[in-house]
Amino acid sequence: SSSCFILVHVMLLIIGKVNTWNYNNSLPSELFLLDIVNRVHVDFNSIKQASLDYGNIVQLTPSAVLYPSSQNDIVSLIKFSYNSPLPFKIAAKGHGHSVRGQAMALNGVVIEMTSLNNNRDNYHGNHDANQIVVHNYSSLYGSSFVDAGGEQLWIDVLQETLRYGLAPVSWTDYLYLTVGGTLSNAGISGQTFRHGPQISNVYEMDVITGKGELVTCSEKFNSELFYAILGGLGQFGIITRARIRLEPAPTRVKWVRMLYNDFPAFTRDQEHLISINEGRQGVDYVEGSLILPRSPANNWRSSSFFSATNVAKITNLVAENEILYTLEVAKYYDDHTSNIVDEELELLFKGLNFIPGFIFTNDVSYVDFLNRVQKGELDLRAKGLWDVPHPWLNIFLPKSHIMDFNSGVFLDIVLKNNITSGLVLVYPMNRDKWDERTSAVLPDEDVFYTVGFLHASGFDGWKPLDEQNEEILRFCDEAGIEVKQYFPHYTTKEAWESHFGSKWKTFKEMKKKFDPKNILSPGQGIFTAPS
Ligand code: FAD
Repeated sequence: SSSCFILVHVMLLIIGKVNTWNYNNSLPSELFLLDIVNRVHVDFNSIKQASLDYGNIVQLTPSAVLYPSSQNDIVSLIKFSYNSPLPFKIAAKGHGHSVRGQAMALNGVVIEMTSLNNNRDNYHGNHDANQIVVHNYSSLYGSSFVDAGGEQLWIDVLQETLRYGLAPVSWTDYLYLTVGGTLSNAGISGQTFRHGPQISNVYEMDVITGKGELVTCSEKFNSELFYAILGGLGQFGIITRARIRLEPAPTRVKWVRMLYNDFPAFTRDQEHLISINEGRQGVDYVEGSLILPRSPANNWRSSSFFSATNVAKITNLVAENEILYTLEVAKYYDDHTSNIVDEELELLFKGLNFIPGFIFTNDVSYVDFLNRVQKGELDLRAKGLWDVPHPWLNIFLPKSHIMDFNSGVFLDIVLKNNITSGLVLVYPMNRDKWDERTSAVLPDEDVFYTVGFLHASGFDGWKPLDEQNEEILRFCDEAGIEVKQYFPHYTTKEAWESHFGSKWKTFKEMKKKFDPKNILSPGQGIFTAPS
């Protein structure tokens, strides 16, 4: 097979069918005879690009990269692997914003999903992947919706839907992530307490399974696949289209931050605010974060929220307190509600226990609010601090243990180690806004918290932060705090089994059914051998 590979490849190189010499022969040579061959790249830059992610910690080299021009290219590739005597691994790569190689495929093929977006001209009328198509009110769903390709960035979905005065309701903090990438996890932000995660706001999807079959699925049709895919870590198929719920978009946002030095008061107020989660009365967004000496108030997620004077005021407060907690809320409004929004907020904030005088309000456009992280990204990029290692840890933990977590982790491990250099997010969500049938894994309580240690480090400096992550998980384990990792990363079968708990049986069954040869998303490391 090896000499056959070389012979075929040399011939293809001579007749110009492949773009470069492929030194790696771990793929079947017949792959290069398929009509997608022009879009299968093996050059140094393509391979290098597909071996990296935002985490900058893991590097796994694929043998080739597919730049699809339509979803048929993806069908051809997966079918070919599925029918090969030795199936090879395939990973869809959205925007590569994973931090542990989850979108990589060692010795396999990475599909650069965003390449579909460069081929809008190939659209021939029937819904192909490379589209964002807005549909006004549908009685079927009782709302408007958008059909978006799995490769689309959420920022583009936002901009297109806004042209119709509409927008999705559930977001991530950062919008340069793909629809397929976030739906494979959950997609959470400050709106989740109210609307559920992004995976609670999908009506239908087109998915190419691990057998290379293109399937449309929804709550009613092929529902097993539909729920498996949502939060399914890319294990069951590649999302090429998602139908996402839309609501009329607000135009402006009151964006407020309040400071606390008392954790019980901080969480009590957060929990109070997320308990008002229907209708106009409540706020639209609730998050929270720590302010530490090394993790300042004006961090990359929201640079320039505070004026220079307020930063100085807060810095003095940090010096006195060692640690502070920021409660962050947003209330949307438009022309019809601009005259009542301040009054509504005043009413909502009555009885909250932030430090008197430490409440700050910005008034921004809806787009500027949703896209708030991009400014921080541009600032960090300008300083060469964006493409650095990111040893992140994201967890969900039950509300009943949040005080133990504060004393054992924030007030002990974090302060003692004094190395936490990035943003630390902490905010609660309502479990009943999540759909139990999806693959997402949650703590077993009505209200649970997400805590995100979004570390950034120098290229030699990520290990101590990673060790701190381990220390935190160990502490939780020993203290009996049932923690579930979000963007989970485990290296043993036992750990994965314990992560999924009661969902493991179904997860395994779905893998057998939709990716029986264990081809898809190997970078997650869940199924190390064909199941
Ligand atoms: P990738 O990293 O490319 O892929 C992730 C996984 O999904 C891989 O296993 C891949 O194989 C699979 N996959 C990719 N595309 C598809 C597809 N079309 N079909 C099936 N599987 C697919 N997450 C939140 O929930 N909330 C946040 O606020 C948030 N903020 C973030 C901010 C930053 C700066 C970064 C870097 C990440 C943030 N994330 C957040 C995490 C992010 O949602 C996940 O890392 C997500 O997977 C990234 O999307 P991506 O398109 O880059 O996916």
